Amino acid sequence: MKKILFSILFVLGSVSGFSQSYETQFAKPLNKVLDGISELFNVRLKYDIDTVGKVVTYADFRIRSYSVEESLNNVLSLFDYKFTKQDDKTYKLKPYEYMRRTPEDGTKLLAYLNSMYQDTVSWNARKACLKKEVRELLKIDEALAKRVKAQPILSKIRKYNGYSVQNFAQETLPGLYVCGSIYTPLSKGKHALILCPNGHWGGGRYNTDEQTRFGTLARMDAVCVSYDLFGWGESEYQVTMTAHRSSEAHIIQIMNGLTILDYMMTRKDIDPKRVAANGGSGGGSQVVLLSLLDDRFTAACPTVNLSSHFDGGCPCESGMPIQLACGGTCNAELMATFAPKPLCVISDGKDWTASVPTLEYPYLQRIYGFYGAKNQVSNFHLPNEGHTFGENKRKGVYQFFIPVFKLDSTKLDESKVTIEPEVAMHSFGVKGEKMPANAIRDFKEVEKYFDIKANRQINSDLELEKRAHSFVDSLKLNDTEKENRVYAVIRTHMKAVRDWHNEHPYTTIPKGINPRTGEVLTDVYRDVIACSAKPKSVHENLMNGLRKDLTEAQVEKILDLYTIGKFHFTLKGFKAIVPNMTEKEEAYVVDQLRLAREEAVDYKTMKGEISAIFEIYKDKCEKYFNDNGRNWHQMYKEYVNKLKAEKAAKKETETEKK
Ligand code: ZN
Repeated sequence: MKKILFSILFVLGSVSGFSQSYETQFAKPLNKVLDGISELFNVRLKYDIDTVGKVVTYADFRIRSYSVEESLNNVLSLFDYKFTKQDDKTYKLKPYEYMRRTPEDGTKLLAYLNSMYQDTVSWNARKACLKKEVRELLKIDEALAKRVKAQPILSKIRKYNGYSVQNFAQETLPGLYVCGSIYTPLSKGKHALILCPNGHWGGGRYNTDEQTRFGTLARMDAVCVSYDLFGWGESEYQVTMTAHRSSEAHIIQIMNGLTILDYMMTRKDIDPKRVAANGGSGGGSQVVLLSLLDDRFTAACPTVNLSSHFDGGCPCESGMPIQLACGGTCNAELMATFAPKPLCVISDGKDWTASVPTLEYPYLQRIYGFYGAKNQVSNFHLPNEGHTFGENKRKGVYQFFIPVFKLDSTKLDESKVTIEPEVAMHSFGVKGEKMPANAIRDFKEVEKYFDIKANRQINSDLELEKRAHSFVDSLKLNDTEKENRVYAVIRTHMKAVRDWHNEHPYTTIPKGINPRTGEVLTDVYRDVIACSAKPKSVHENLMNGLRKDLTEAQVEKILDLYTIGKFHFTLKGFKAIVPNMTEKEEAYVVDQLRLAREEAVDYKTMKGEISAIFEIYKDKCEKYFNDNGRNWHQMYKEYVNKLKAEKAAKKETETEKK
């Protein structure tokens, strides 16, 4: 207890500039408060959050000396942050995650949902609502309506032991393709069809676990179709991997699955009474949606994903707000809409599916019970396994499909499957060189098919307004009308800078030589040139607007916020490098950096353009020193050597201490 008290006092005393009283709301910087908690409870805090500039009011009053978790909660919840416990001594601090909750949350949600339906009549009403609203929230029908009618491009067929593989490239939206491979049994007659959307496994659909499953199921008489995630595999050549982490990915992947299903159902060798979806992790999230959206599926097997408290952490699973359907739902309830058709949930003990045997599975059984079909839902649980699609999970898949689709179990032998090299499974050559002429090559061309671009604008506006408000708040003007005027000036300026930046990309400036360095112009400088052409009024309106209401010191503060303190940082650097800087020299540097700061506010990217502007003025200062009896190169070298020597000396004393 003594130690705790001492620690609190130590932490209190150590914060300069934050006097502890009623008037100051006992405020402290967030990072200091967290340091205090870490010390007090002797725990390690791992940061995945931004603490810069964040202040905790009534800071120490939020600490509960008997509970580290309550203390963390009381502090973090102020900023929409949370923690997860990693072990007894370690907590990870994270931003709020809308798609991830706790098993306790899942228990409460399922109990609440259960109270809404007692029989097929009340359940069918709920099911109808979910089926309708998920469609709308996913905006899937708008995407489906924009598709082209095209036959897939099919490759030559490669024959293996008991099955064959053929690649396909299916055009969906004009110029957008989904590529994949079809695993077909060599036997004659109608086959079952299993659509196999991919998860975020290393190597994507080309990985050995995936190929093994498809080949084995095909040998047993099921046609399996595997296809790339949006932005992965061959889709990467069209839109790059960054496009995957977008809400469009959520829509496009489901559109891809349904389009492939349309094509496969035209094939004469497919038995329409035996159609399933099976995928693991993110692929399992797709299984939930596909089987909800299309009644042609007759069986489903979501693997290591189904949960009542986790919706899938990638925007391709939770980018669109489908979980808000009908007042709030979860993947377990969405999957329940599949009742009474055969369903097998594969789960493990080391991810968010650990709760399936005691939570989600009994819930699903209850719904299936409404139809007298409890035996149609099963749970294949592997308590000692983690989040993979390894051999034991695949056994669960085979065990489910063999009776349900009357597959030939005598052909079950994974060792008979040929693992192909990735490039053999490509439709568009090694690196996309064989893409059709009409193929889209930029994600921007895909965005035009969606109204999500408008959402990005709204999001960007919100961010910008938040930043403008924080600038004004920092001045503590205590005058609402003045605050509103200053806010309006800053907001207008920020928007003008952003819009000009976005509408005049660096690509509008031809490649050329940088007159400053004599080297080829970098993209950043091309950006600077493109943005420097904006109307002068953008800058003048800002400066005049600020000066109308603010003192010169306040104006400077705003400019510093725009440029995150680069003026002071750079000045400090010059003072450290130039020994005994004279007043005259300092005045020159200050003047130049002031010019840099004022010019830099009209540029958008902090790491790129704003730094580039400061570089130009730093060069001028260096030249000034050289022209006035100093040797910049020499001073800089000596400064670096001094730093190195200090570091070495420090290391030596530390070793001695040990
Ligand atoms: Zn994803």
